[in-house]
Amino acid sequence: MRKQIAAANWKMNGTLQQANELLDGIINEKISYSPHREVVFAVPFPYLILAKEKIKNINGYKVAAQNCYTKSSGAFTGEVSAAMLQSIEVDYVIIGHSERREIFAENSKMLAAKVDVCLANNLSPIFCCGEPLQIREAETQNEYVATQIQESLFHLTNDQLKNVVVAYEPIWAIGTGKTATAQQAQDMQAFIRNIFKEKYGDEVAKNISILYGGSVKATNAKEIFEMPDVDGGLVGGASLSVPEFISIIKSLK
Ligand code: PEP
Repeated sequence: MRKQIAAANWKMNGTLQQANELLDGIINEKISYSPHREVVFAVPFPYLILAKEKIKNINGYKVAAQNCYTKSSGAFTGEVSAAMLQSIEVDYVIIGHSERREIFAENSKMLAAKVDVCLANNLSPIFCCGEPLQIREAETQNEYVATQIQESLFHLTNDQLKNVVVAYEPIWAIGTGKTATAQQAQDMQAFIRNIFKEKYGDEVAKNISILYGGSVKATNAKEIFEMPDVDGGLVGGASLSVPEFISIIKSLK
């Protein structure tokens, strides 16, 4: 079975004290994980080492950065390189979150370079894609998402793609409380899997984890995660609450 993942995207939230409380609250629940399930903490940069330390020797937990830069070192004040993340044994990096695309003007070419630099440093990208509201209303979301994937991932080899996780995040559902219906998520995620099938073959497509993101919470996670092409979620707001996120973890297939 392909990996089922509950990824907590804390964004730019939480003090050190809150980070400790959140991580401890979830880890102390002592959830037992079957090998195909994984929980990922995408914490702000200052808390990565802390998160790594806390999950050490516990099954089922991984740590993600929320971004990295394309260059390995140099005069790029304020940036963090993939090599630095690798040196502290980070597992994943979120690449192409819609907030990075919209607020920080990250384009497909830049994201392709970020994917490359992650893979070159043994970090698995969690590649985000998803359409804004006007594209959904015009019913052109499939073409829009296909282009995002083609432009930033299609240069990868079969072997490289095996280390990529995709997160479909319709922008109109992020942080809005408006969730895509389970069927809307399933339709897009089946479409995405099919794009990979056409380019990389059935075996690769069957094994790639595709998460859904956009106002996932305790009350809707099970219905969404039950869909055959939804392999868990990338969770923003609800991942900042211990009981909410525990319930989301327990909703994984
Ligand atoms: C996200 O940040 O990726 C996200 C999906 O946020 P939220 O769950 O708050 O909509």
